[in-house]
Parts: sequence; structure tokens; C-alpha cells
Amino acid sequence: MAMTMTYDEFKALHLSIDMTRGKPAAAQLDLSLDLIEAAPSVGYRSRDGIDCRNYGHVLGLPESRELGAQLLGVPAEQVVAAGNSSLELMHDALAFGMLHGMPGGEAWRRANEVAFLCPVPGYDRHFAICEALGIRMIAVPMNDDGPDMEKVEALVAADPAIKGIWCTPLYSNPTGAIYSRGCVDRLARMPTAAPDFRLFWDDAYRFHHLTDERYASPDILTACARAGHPDRALVFASTSKVTFAGGGIAMLAASPANIAWWQRHNGVRTIGPDKLNQLRHVRYLRDRATLERLMERHRAILQPKFDALDATLRALLGDVPGVSWTKPCGGYFVSLYTPDGYAKRTVELAAQAGVVLTPAGAAFPYRLDPRDRHLRIAPSCPSLGEIEQAGQAIALSLRKALDEGARRER
Ligand code: PMP
Repeated sequence: MAMTMTYDEFKALHLSIDMTRGKPAAAQLDLSLDLIEAAPSVGYRSRDGIDCRNYGHVLGLPESRELGAQLLGVPAEQVVAAGNSSLELMHDALAFGMLHGMPGGEAWRRANEVAFLCPVPGYDRHFAICEALGIRMIAVPMNDDGPDMEKVEALVAADPAIKGIWCTPLYSNPTGAIYSRGCVDRLARMPTAAPDFRLFWDDAYRFHHLTDERYASPDILTACARAGHPDRALVFASTSKVTFAGGGIAMLAASPANIAWWQRHNGVRTIGPDKLNQLRHVRYLRDRATLERLMERHRAILQPKFDALDATLRALLGDVPGVSWTKPCGGYFVSLYTPDGYAKRTVELAAQAGVVLTPAGAAFPYRLDPRDRHLRIAPSCPSLGEIEQAGQAIALSLRKALDEGARRER
């Protein structure tokens, strides 16, 4: 495809490309086909003789909690191996907070107001949970090394209604930010007006490197314990983008008090997780080294896609003032910044040209990007060729939007 194509010429190609969500490509899912193919030989008896076909073990199969412990770097007693979705665990933890309160605290629903800090741009589904549960969202800026800690510290020190903050500490969705050691220590140490304040620590991209440098997620549980706030962090992770998206195992890691709290409330909600899937995952993933080898194969599929997007954007937008984008070292997303006021129009024009992007504003609480300048691009699922075309559509759409703006000003 010629790089010099106009917007109208591109539109005339009548393409249809979906860049909305960070789903793994089929080739990535194929990497774990053994999970299905080896299922008959795995059977239903766990290492300890547990019949995984039956109810029970609300905190998860012991060997799958041990695998979680190895993957997350915490003791197995502090890990819950759960169902197929970490987002579900985050939702439930917040719902339990609203309905019952955190260990030792009052139910949040009894307070006049409950608020959460939301580093922006952030993950739209975190914000959707807050919105659904009536939790007021307060946006704080996200920097390359984590949230703006001056702002975070000032807000949480002053307002007891602020009960928590969303954190995606490694290869953040959607900017790729990597929380620095300093930021993590400040989050662990900071005085909060709410005694039951929580870090919702979503470690979704803990294993999802895109470069030779394997950044490590900071150990927030230890940092909090050292700072005298052992119950402050709830750590969430899953194998959704390791094995099957929505078909893996999710994990929660936290202090013993938080795990007991979780068990109390979750034990009302379920008689236990799908231990057959947990058993299959333990046999397939085995240990951290095996998982890391699998993630290298994911990277071999993903990295060329991120590189192709970056190269296309560089070729077509490199000379446009006020336009920038991230080149993440891991995770599933690229953030592109337009000059103020052009994100919505760019998404609209791209859709008209056959490329559907995440709606502008989606990465902000209440879907409101105050500067209308952020686009979230998800290059994982489409083919390499489609990504080049999508990059071209974004560039041509943004240039057209800027031309329209310049004409209006003339
Ligand atoms: N957290 C983040 C930051 C994500 O990007 C995603 C997937 N897009 C999830 C959680 C969802 O994880 P799960 O499949 O375990 O629910």
C-alpha cells in the first residue's frame, strides 16, 4: 500500500479493521492448545488426591495456589486461585467493600460518599466498575513512572472519602507506564485519611514483555508491610493473556487478614472455583520458567505488530507538531496523543474509513478526556498487514482532522 495515499483513496478501499480491544490473536491462543489436547491425560485427581470434579476449596486448589505464589512472589497462604477473570475479582472486592467494608472497617455504603483515585489515561473497565457501584472517580495524571504522587498524596491525606486507587504497575493499560521504585514506596507509605484505604493493584501485564528487558513488577505487599500498612494492597493477576483470554485462572494476593476477609465473603458467593481448569493450568504452566518461555513465544508474535505500528506512525505523523505516541516495553496498548481537541474527530474519521478504534475518552472516568487528545490503540489482534493499514488510517484521519481545524481558523 502506497504511503502517499490520501484519506479519500484509503476510504475507497472499504476495509474493515477492529482495533478496539486488546485481545490476543488466534496465533497466540494456538500456543496453548496443549491445554485442551492434553486434558484427557491430566484427568481429575490433584497431586494431593483431591477429586477436582467435586465442590470445595474456595481459595483454590493447593497446587494452583502454589503456582500463583511462585508467579507472584508471595507465600501460597496469601494467594487465592480463583475463576477465569481477575476483573471479576476486582469487581467483587469493591462490591464487598461497599456491602461489608474492609477488614475491621465500616461498610463503605454507610459513608456519605466513596471515591477512588483514577490515574489517567487508565483502564476503562476499572472505571466502569466504579461507575456501576456508585463510586465517585477522581482523575489524577499518570506519568511514565506512575501516578503523579504529589497529587495522590495530597488528595488521600485530606479526604477520608477516598478509599482507594487503581494501579496497573507494569506496562500500564493504556500508556505502558512502569511504576518506579520511588512511586511504589510512596504509595505504600503515604498517610491516608481513610484507615481502610486500598491499592487495587492490577498486575495484568506482569509477564507481558515486548523487549529483552524483563521489567519486574514491584513487590507491593512487602513494601506495604514494611511501611506499617500490611493490609493496604490487593494484588490481582490472571493467565488470560498467557493461556486463553477468559479461559485461564485468576489470582488474588494479599495479607493474611485480607485473605481471611475474602474467604468470608467469597464463601457466600461460591462453593469453589473450577478446579479442573486449575489442574490443567498447573500441569501445563508448571513453573515460572515454563511460563516465561511461553511468554517469549507471545512476544515473538506481538513485538513485530507493535514495531509495525510505530514505524507506520513515524513515517506518516513524525513531522506533525503536537502529536506523540508511546512505544511500550510490554503490555497490550499504545497511547497516541493528538493536539488538544482532535481525538474524537480522528476516531470518527477512522471509523468512516473502515478502522474502528476505542472511542475517544474511553480511558478516562465518565469517558471524558478533558483535552480530547488521547487515543488507545490495541495492535495485538489484527494481522501485521492490518496494523499497517490501521496505522495509516489513524494518520490520515488525524491529518484530515487537523486540516479541517486549520480551515476553520482561517
Ligand atoms: N486488567 C487490565 C489492566 C487489563 O488490560 C485486562 C484485560 N484487558 C484485564 C484486567 C482483564 O483481565 P481478566 O481477563 O483476568 O479479567
